[in-house]
Amino acid sequence: MILLEERIQKDGIVKEGDVLKVDSFLNHQMDVSLFAQMGAEFKRLFKDKPINKILTIEASGIGIACVVAESFNCPVVFAKKTASINLDGDVYTSKVISFTKKREYDIIVSKKFLTKDDHILIIDDFLANGCAVMGLIDLINAAGATVEGVGIAIEKGFQPGGQMIRDKGIQLESLAIVDGMDPATGRITFRH
Ligand code: 5GP
Repeated sequence: MILLEERIQKDGIVKEGDVLKVDSFLNHQMDVSLFAQMGAEFKRLFKDKPINKILTIEASGIGIACVVAESFNCPVVFAKKTASINLDGDVYTSKVISFTKKREYDIIVSKKFLTKDDHILIIDDFLANGCAVMGLIDLINAAGATVEGVGIAIEKGFQPGGQMIRDKGIQLESLAIVDGMDPATGRITFRH
């Protein structure tokens, strides 16, 4: 998506440790009109799928997921991150290692909001090692629901998550794929 690539070129900041900072339009301040165009693009890419629910992970996936949900006219469920969980049997859980914080945490979704009849589109802001998406797939599998696809705003194509998900036969659509980024020069290159 050219518009998103141009915005990353203009406002993205390359940090050490393979982190791309996009705080000014996606992760802290949010450009909602850009989000609306991203939502329309995801709708176009997944138009043939019988999607009835969007699943994301708190916090930064929620904004994009809401806009996508509007274009599919369906609800959003976000997996909650929690340091220690109260296992009362009413939730599905999985473990995720945070790419940016380098620590492990549990994610949970109430069994009320994920059922075997659901056809889910997973949405997130970034794809790096694929840990967050794999955790969400775990929750969907535990519920007996169907993964219809994965939609990502920014995939870092030089990290293994994208390949891992495509190898599972899941339709993965990333609106921008960063192929390389250099913290010394700030240079960012994209895959087309
Ligand atoms: P993964 O689980 O695929 O390794 O990492 C994906 C998660 O880590 C995303 O939900 C996102 O919040 C965060 N993340 C990964 N890489 C980056 C990055 O370069 N910049 C930002 N802002 N977040 C990232």
